[in-house]
Amino acid sequence: MSEYRATIGLEIHAELNTRAKMFCSCKNDPDEETPNTNICPVCTAQPGTLPVVNEAAVEQVLRVGKAIGAQLADFTEWDRKNYFYPDIPKGYQITQYKYPLVSGGSLAGVALTRIHLEEDTGSSRHDMGDFSVVDYNRAGVPLMELVTEPVIHDAETAMRFGKELQLLLRTLGASEANMEKGQMRVEVNISISKTDKFGTKVEVKNINSFSAAGAAIAYEMARQEAALEAGEKIIQETRGWDESTGKTFSQRKKESANDYRYFPDPDIPKFVCTEVFGKNYEKLAPLPELPWEKRERLLALGIDAKVVEIYVSDDTLGKLFDEVVAGLSGDAAAIKLASNYISTDLVSLIKAEPVLPLKLSAKTFIDLVSMIGANELSSRGAKDTLTIAYREGGVVREIAEKNGLIQKSDLGEIERVASEIIAANPSQAAEYRAGKTSLLMFFVGQGMKAMKGSGNPKLLGEIFTKLLG
Ligand code: ADP
Ligand code: ZN
Ligand code: MG
Repeated sequence: MSEYRATIGLEIHAELNTRAKMFCSCKNDPDEETPNTNICPVCTAQPGTLPVVNEAAVEQVLRVGKAIGAQLADFTEWDRKNYFYPDIPKGYQITQYKYPLVSGGSLAGVALTRIHLEEDTGSSRHDMGDFSVVDYNRAGVPLMELVTEPVIHDAETAMRFGKELQLLLRTLGASEANMEKGQMRVEVNISISKTDKFGTKVEVKNINSFSAAGAAIAYEMARQEAALEAGEKIIQETRGWDESTGKTFSQRKKESANDYRYFPDPDIPKFVCTEVFGKNYEKLAPLPELPWEKRERLLALGIDAKVVEIYVSDDTLGKLFDEVVAGLSGDAAAIKLASNYISTDLVSLIKAEPVLPLKLSAKTFIDLVSMIGANELSSRGAKDTLTIAYREGGVVREIAEKNGLIQKSDLGEIERVASEIIAANPSQAAEYRAGKTSLLMFFVGQGMKAMKGSGNPKLLGEIFTKLLG
C-alpha cells in the first residue's frame, strides 16, 4: 500500500444534442461527414456577424443542474477566452467564466463545482499530406463543461462518476455522450500527497473511454510517486494519454486563467434565465424518471441489483421491462419470472444472434408467464417458444401450438409414453425396482425428451412412480 493518497477532480465536456448550434442556426449534426457543410458566417467568424444564444442549449444545461440538485443561475453572461488556433476562427472561444449556469450539486456521491456552457471548436486534421485542414462543422456546437471538486480519491469512483453522468445525459436527452465519437470528453486532474495538503496537480487529456480514464489515473499515481520518491518535483502541466503505450506524456506547461484574457463578450447581452424559464424555472421541460429513481423503483419490485443495472443502462430492455411491469399489474411473482426471461434468456439471445429492432414485445413475456402459470408451458417449452418469438416474432400461444410445445397434461398420452420408455430401458427399470429410486430423474428426463419438452415433468414423475412401483 502506498503512503500517498491520490486526489482527483474531473473536467468533462459533452456536446449537447440540440437541433442548431450555440450561436447560429446551422445544423448541429455530429454525423455529418462532408467537411464544412454546416457552416455560416457566424460560426466561421466573418466580420460583422453577431452571435444569438440558443435557448434550447441553455435549457438542457439547466435541466442537468436541476436533476443533480444544483443551484441554477438567475442570470448569466458569456465571456471570451482568447487564444489562437486554426480550429477557433474568431481567435477566441465563447464560454462562461464568471457566471456559470449551474453551481454545486452532486452526482454519484461526487460534489460538483459548476457546469457551464460554451461553444465547441472546429476539428483539425493533420493526416492529409503536407498540409493540415480544418473542418468547421463542429465549430459553434453547444458544449457543456462540468467540473467536479477535488474529492475523488480512486480510479473506480472516477469511472463510476463518468458512467453515471453519461447515463444521466442520455436519460435527459441532453447528449448522446458517446466517448468514442468525442461527444463526451473526460479530463482528469490528479495529484498525490502524503499529508492533508494537496500536491501539485497534473491534467491528463485525450482520454477516450472510461477504462482509459482508470488506466491514466493508475499510471499517473505511480509516475508521480516514483518522481517524488526520487526527490523530483511534480510540474503543473497538461499531459496526454497514449492509448497504445498506456502512458501519459508531457504536452505543455499549464497556462493560467490570465493567459486567456477572459472578458465579457460585448456582442451578447446578459441572459436572464428567470425571464426565459420562469421565476422558479417552472417553464423548463419536466425531468423524466432519473437513473437513481428508476433504480430505487425496480429494487422495490424485488429485482436483483445486477439486473436493475441492465434495465437502467439499456434503453430497449428498460422500456420493455417497464411495459411488462405495467401489463402484469402488480403480480410480483409473475414480474420476477418475466424479468428472468428478459435478463437471462433474451439477453443471451441478443448476444448470440442480434436481431434488432426486437421482433418481440412486452406481450411476449406477459403471455409467456401467464401460460407458465397455467401449466401450459414448461420452463423448457417457454425457453423454446421465446427463442422462436425472438427470431421470427409472432404470438406466443400460436408459436407454442404450432411447434408442439404446449405442455401435455393428458394422462392417457403421458402413460403411453412412460410405458414405452420403461419397455425400452429394461435394465434401468430393474435397478429402480431393486431400490435405486434416484433413477426416477432419468425416466422423467427420457419422458421430457420423448415429448419434446411438452411433457409436464410433475405428472411424468407421478406416472413413472406408479408404473415402476
Ligand atoms: P485550474 O485553475 O488549473 O483550471 P481549477 O481549480 O479550476 O484549476 O480545477 C480544475 C480541476 O482540477 C477541478 O476538477 C478540480 O477539482 C481539480 N483540482 C484542483 N486542485 C486539484 C489537486 N490539487 N489535485 C487534483 N485535482 C485538483
Ligand atoms: Zn453557423
Ligand atoms: Mg479551471
